[in-house]
Amino acid sequence: MKKLKKEITKNSLKKEKLTFIDVHCHLDICENIDRIVRNANRKNVNTIITNGINPSNNKKVLDLAKKYEKEGVKAALGIYPIDALSLKDEEIDSELNFIRENREKISAIGEVGLDFKEDLTKREKQIKIFVKFIMLAAELNKPLIIHSRGAENQCIDMIERAGIRKVVMHHFSGDMNLVDKIAQNNWFLSIPSSIKYSEHFQNIVKRIEIENLLCETDAPFLNPFKTGQNEPVNVLESYKKIAEIKNMKIEDVAKKIKENYEKVFAH
Ligand SMILES: [Zn+2]
Repeated sequence: MKKLKKEITKNSLKKEKLTFIDVHCHLDICENIDRIVRNANRKNVNTIITNGINPSNNKKVLDLAKKYEKEGVKAALGIYPIDALSLKDEEIDSELNFIRENREKISAIGEVGLDFKEDLTKREKQIKIFVKFIMLAAELNKPLIIHSRGAENQCIDMIERAGIRKVVMHHFSGDMNLVDKIAQNNWFLSIPSSIKYSEHFQNIVKRIEIENLLCETDAPFLNPFKTGQNEPVNVLESYKKIAEIKNMKIEDVAKKIKENYEKVFAH
């Protein structure tokens, strides 16, 4: 009897321990980092992947992952496609080496990809650099966190051809045929907290199974409350909306998303 009681208490305690995960933000460019990490932990946002966008940010990202290791901050290193354009080939290659050297300290390669919205003239250079990052992810066996604005089809095509399996499409703006393709590939779409008002992301959640979803904030950008900086605690807005659309309890959404997270990021 005593044993049973103990077991029940243990189970209910287990149940209470919710974990929420922000798989994509930029802590290094947020203000009041101490405070927002605490805010996140207080609401059980216990895993926060902060993404690098260029060589100097990547160093800051590594420092943050070290400083806030206990708070669940983890590093993804990469070069944002627009930032990549101002770097020389040697600088890109030396950053790839920097990432290689720090492979034990990182959870993923990101934020990398293609952005054809802003610059129409330098697509070739972006593609060349993106290939290098895809190959690096394969070499290090790390997931890819992908930015694909205005180049969704091409990004998917390149990753498919490389045979990469652990892929997170961050803030995916492509159409529903491509969303289906991502799901068929068993990749993941990370749903930003801006789903609170974004019909596009609400439609994605309606369209595909929870097995293909993760959650993110892209903090400090895309505040779901529309004013001020976004922060990882707001990833709860993604969970709430998914729970509402899928008609699930938020605890069950959290459990599912955690399982998905482990599939991609656990090694
Ligand atoms: Zn981002």
